[in-house]
Amino acid sequence: NNRPTFTGLVVVLAYADSQPDQPQGFKKKKVVVLGTGWAGTTFLRNLDSKLYDVQVISPRNYFAFTPLLPSVTCGTVEPRSVVEPIRRILEKKGGDFKFWEAECFKIDPANKKIHCRSNMGTNLDGNGEFLVDYDYLVVAVGARSNTFNTPGVTENCHFLKEVEDAQKIRRSVMDCFEKASLPYLNEEERKKNLHFVVVGGGPTGVEFAAELHDFVTEDLSKLYPSIQHLVKISLIEAADHILTMFDKRITNFAEDKFGRDGIDVKTGYKVVKVSKDAITMQNPATGDIAVPYGMAVWSTGIGTRPFVVDFMKQIGQANRRVLATDEWLRVRECDDVYAVGDCATINQRRVMEDISEIFRVADKDKSGTLTVKEIQDILEDIYVRYPQVKLYMKSKQLNGIADLIRTGKGDTEKESVELNIEEFKKALSLVDSQVKNLPATAQVAAQQGQYLATCFNKMQTAEQNPEGPIRIRGEGRHRFNPFRYRHLGQFAPLGGEQTAAQLPGDWVSIGHSSQWLWYSVYATTNKLAHEGTGDI
Ligand code: FAD
Ligand code: MG
Ligand code: MG
Ligand code: MG
Ligand code: MG
Repeated sequence: NNRPTFTGLVVVLAYADSQPDQPQGFKKKKVVVLGTGWAGTTFLRNLDSKLYDVQVISPRNYFAFTPLLPSVTCGTVEPRSVVEPIRRILEKKGGDFKFWEAECFKIDPANKKIHCRSNMGTNLDGNGEFLVDYDYLVVAVGARSNTFNTPGVTENCHFLKEVEDAQKIRRSVMDCFEKASLPYLNEEERKKNLHFVVVGGGPTGVEFAAELHDFVTEDLSKLYPSIQHLVKISLIEAADHILTMFDKRITNFAEDKFGRDGIDVKTGYKVVKVSKDAITMQNPATGDIAVPYGMAVWSTGIGTRPFVVDFMKQIGQANRRVLATDEWLRVRECDDVYAVGDCATINQRRVMEDISEIFRVADKDKSGTLTVKEIQDILEDIYVRYPQVKLYMKSKQLNGIADLIRTGKGDTEKESVELNIEEFKKALSLVDSQVKNLPATAQVAAQQGQYLATCFNKMQTAEQNPEGPIRIRGEGRHRFNPFRYRHLGQFAPLGGEQTAAQLPGDWVSIGHSSQWLWYSVYATTNKLAHEGTGDI
């Protein structure tokens, strides 16, 4: 049995329950959480508030349900119904929680302190800065919008990341229509103002373009009948297709639908410059083209926040693009710091790095060879520690060990065959090609937050019951199964109440009912704040 035992946990909880005043000298460990987005909030919702002294720091005092942000840009959904105040969430939980509306600008792992700054006025030093120390730090600060240093983007484009962004976009769309209506403009100028450009054909850009199209054709056409025919929406994507992370059927459907809707999908074009009046894009065949526009939304991808880059430099991760954790979500080479959600990626251990050790652990009888049974006995543990093995077996349609052995040993049917280390290496030599980074999605962030809370809730228990998954490489400190992502599906609302859904098992569905499925994915992980409880 590789699961941590739960008996110890019950004892710990009973103890905490019956001892509201902890004995003299007992001090709860300080957990500091940075960020109140998907990862941070899900962590907090699931953390046992009796076990820790928790401090939450975020420049935003609310959680935002990001999947609905594109709908906020066009007024389909009100801003207040996509947010939930963090203090309300914490208050419901009870326990030792503190929240400070501030941003962390430096992590000091050597002294276990973080430097924070509030923009709400000053303290005695006059700068609104303060220090917070931690026993455990949970970094859940998400990512920033990435301009890839394209000139003019920051100054001239909208991003779509925060609730404020969505509100600004909404105002800007209306401004463009009002400007285009002014009496002294010529047709050319009206067209310019009514040219809406979306840069980036990922899920966010596509959904925004679809929302905007519906807004323009269904609502604004009635309010601005005389200029309605001058509206143009362009979607610019550098790759050959939009929605490349989805199944081809969805990509094709989306491109066709946008074509019918009159959205100008420009694939294979890279935006190289944005000025106040024009967007310059590039294509090997056409060279540079500058197109006048009224409003542009930039949605091409995400990058690492500067203070996280600085933290990475301090801990020897300077050569990486994204903060790396191990499979237990612990920041590599840095004690007691964890990272979840968009701000980090899991650095999955490679089988080939550990192959000799795996062989040694599996070879129980020390015969120097592995039997089918010896491999069988350890396979579940290998799957847990190295999920790429299972993916590999699936991708090659290998039916279990016998097949795997055949690939190591050459063509043999005999079950009694044993593998030596070289043959074992050969059988597994390609499995690491199946290591994939998890996508930057709310689903991943929420599951990581939940997983980490479970680990924190059991930390004490685990220290008393040093069991857990098999300790390949003698990793004695890992007493929990590593984080495993459960993919519940991916959704792309395409406008006109059409939503494409790609569910596990390559199931693709396009139509009205998909919308419902889409909501259910989040309903299971995070309660919706639909009663309009939000205040910003
Ligand atoms: P975030 O949710 O971004 O939270 C980061 C938190 O950290 C915020 O509270 C922020 O204020 C705080 N913070 C920032 N800087 C600091 C600092 N210096 N100190 C302290 N705190 C800080 N995913 C899906 O799965 N499905 C979807 O349909 C979907 N739609 C999306 C639509 C839009 C418009 C956007 C922008 C994203 C969408 N996503 C979707 C992606 C999803 O929102 C992200 O993957 C998710 O928010 C990541 O969670 P996180 O907690 O890592 O970061
Ligand atoms: Mg977060
Ligand atoms: Mg969020
Ligand atoms: Mg991540
Ligand atoms: Mg043996």
